[in-house]
Amino acid sequence: MRIGLVLAAAGLGTRLKASEPKAFLRLQDATLVDRALAPFMLRDDVAAAAVVVPNPAAAAELLGHMDPRVRFVQGGEDRQASVAAGLAVLGDVELILVHDAARPLVEDATVAAVIDAAKKFGAAVPALPIHDTVKEVGADGRVKGTPSRAALVLVQTPQGFRADLLRRAHAEAQAAGVRATDDAALVERLGEPVVLVPGRRSNIKITTREDLLIAEAILAARAQPPR
Ligand code: C5P
Repeated sequence: MRIGLVLAAAGLGTRLKASEPKAFLRLQDATLVDRALAPFMLRDDVAAAAVVVPNPAAAAELLGHMDPRVRFVQGGEDRQASVAAGLAVLGDVELILVHDAARPLVEDATVAAVIDAAKKFGAAVPALPIHDTVKEVGADGRVKGTPSRAALVLVQTPQGFRADLLRRAHAEAQAAGVRATDDAALVERLGEPVVLVPGRRSNIKITTREDLLIAEAILAARAQPPR
């Protein structure tokens, strides 16, 4: 099956207070974009990758030596617009994976699990159980309630979809003026099933300086020979 990847890397990363866009920060010498792309580019069934960035010309220059399957695309105002820009250049693929460059530690096994489940069920996302207690907070800052965490999960990327389903979900959300922070939400609103596969705690989303430190520690642990 021909697979396309959209890598969302057009965020400015303002919460990181770095001078360059987040996706071009380095973790042990490799940019977040390079690291986030690697497990996908290893696969022969990934036929095309749209890497959505703030400035395609600058990205091509900075990252240089790129795989010929990769195309840089100009991002949009929010994540959903950036993913839509990526979808527009992916061409003829049957399955689409959407991944955030902010998750550079994704492993091959997670990519494989998402692909397998998306092929079978149409839409699949990696998820983790919630260990903390969650509170719902009102506009006045006061706690309104405590939802049962047993019914909640944290979702990650990569998220995988049948290409026709994801394209329809984006088009219908756009027409209805709906904005969402992940792609599965757009599929859910069509009433189509989204299945969960196990996520990994190490597939963290880099948002703050502390997250960069945690990511460095995870990479250092991976480099240790097994005892
Ligand atoms: O903003 P947030 O951290 O939730 O972004 C998640 C992912 O979406 C990041 O990888 C970021 O680069 C990407 N993004 C994007 N275009 C935007 C905003 C965020 O591609 N306009």
